[in-house]
Amino acid sequence: MSKGIIVQKYGGTSVADIGRIQNVAKKVVAAKRAGFDVVVIVSALGHSTDKLIELAHQITVIPSERELDMLISTGEQVSCALLAMAIHKLGEDAISFTGAQVGIITDTSFTKARIIDINAKRIVEELKKKIVIVAGFQGVSVNQDITTLGRGGSNLTAVALAKVLNAESCEMYTDVEGVFTADPRVVKDARKIDRLSYEEMFELASLGTQVLQPRSIEFAMKFGVPIHVRSSFSNKIGTIISREVKAMEHIVVSGVALNKDEAKVTICDVPDRPGIAAKIFKVIAKENINVDMIVQNVSRTHATDISFTVPGTDLHKTIKVAKELSRRVGAGDITFDKDIAKVSIVGIGMRSHSGVAAIMFEALAEKRINIEMISTSEIKISCVVNKKYGEKAVRVIHEKFGLGKKKVKK
Ligand code: ASP
Ligand code: MG
Repeated sequence: MSKGIIVQKYGGTSVADIGRIQNVAKKVVAAKRAGFDVVVIVSALGHSTDKLIELAHQITVIPSERELDMLISTGEQVSCALLAMAIHKLGEDAISFTGAQVGIITDTSFTKARIIDINAKRIVEELKKKIVIVAGFQGVSVNQDITTLGRGGSNLTAVALAKVLNAESCEMYTDVEGVFTADPRVVKDARKIDRLSYEEMFELASLGTQVLQPRSIEFAMKFGVPIHVRSSFSNKIGTIISREVKAMEHIVVSGVALNKDEAKVTICDVPDRPGIAAKIFKVIAKENINVDMIVQNVSRTHATDISFTVPGTDLHKTIKVAKELSRRVGAGDITFDKDIAKVSIVGIGMRSHSGVAAIMFEALAEKRINIEMISTSEIKISCVVNKKYGEKAVRVIHEKFGLGKKKVKK
């Protein structure tokens, strides 16, 4: 009798070379032999997706998005076939599929397609006898074109399949032991978090914690799919991400995130009239530029400066659009700053605790780190600081909120 379906997703680092693929095969076979029906989702080998994009860019800076998807979807096809072979070698039956073969139907927005339907009949059928391996990150559009689901999209494939198959669990295997209170490469005593709510994980991921793709968490939250983030190099329990439970409220700050990939743009001397901000941000949105923080100063002269942050990769496009806009609305110069870092704290306990922002600002003040921008929401506070202080800021905030490992008294 089967113990039910288990979905396991292995990220790029877990399948970076043949040795690691063989290690994954062992883990998959162990789950099968423990009595589960196993569905495996794999990412492309190591950084091979980046390398494919790089090849495209050697030809043109703006490749056709249809062809780009055709190209980058191949990475996952390589890893899923190799994994199937490695499992065969261990004496178990396994079969690999592309997204299209298992009916992952998406809309037509290449490079960031949305899943609109999954026809899991083939998987269910094969699962009766075999381990099923599915290429992550890809689907087929309603027009029969190959699409991809946005960078890190294998997470989304895993969550979506776990939901459709009504799986017992959705395990995300990576090269770290779970989600940490801060990046362990930046903060030495960062601690692995045992449990997080979907909301917190979503914020941490959106604010720069690169363990899970934000979209996949949104999906998991919508359908209540619990996720277990863990390491493919150990058997330790990792981080469980689920709906909020009562005990989570007591934790004011769960983690500190750092994003160094944004840039700040300022439009100076913007006329202070109703409708101007609407006009500016409408045009920017139309260019598909994702604006994050926005700060507008009080105006005493009927003109005000508006600063906002955008992904660093969109900076040039943004400056061009902003210059044009400034002319149209009668504003002044455009200035920009690439040397910024956004440091954020996240925690659901913030809803019921006051003074959290003050503690964060104090931590920065003690180290004489200047805050350039601030934004807050119910469960997060972000500060923009000079890029060269980004990591230091993470360390002092982590320390101030006592998030590190408990120090053993000597
Ligand atoms: N290989 C894709 C990427 O690097 C998808 C994934 O890893 O989830 O973004
Ligand atoms: Mg990858």
